[in-house]
Amino acid sequence: MRLTCPMCKKQLDDVPADYQPRPFCSARCKRIDLGNWLTGAYRVTEPVRPDMPEFDELAQRLDSTDWN
Ligand SMILES: [Zn+2]
Repeated sequence: MRLTCPMCKKQLDDVPADYQPRPFCSARCKRIDLGNWLTGAYRVTEPVRPDMPEFDELAQRLDSTDWN
């Protein structure tokens, strides 16, 4: 199936139905989306984009967080 990541807008053409990070392209985008909600980033008018430095910063912050 086809998937368009709601976080980075990347398109994946052949994704299995049980693709784990769905609807995101990767666990990274999934966690960033979750992080956005947790940090209230969605309240700002400018969406987080993958080419923004803040994106990597947030990803790193999330990577150091134990979500389990
Ligand atoms: Zn993505």
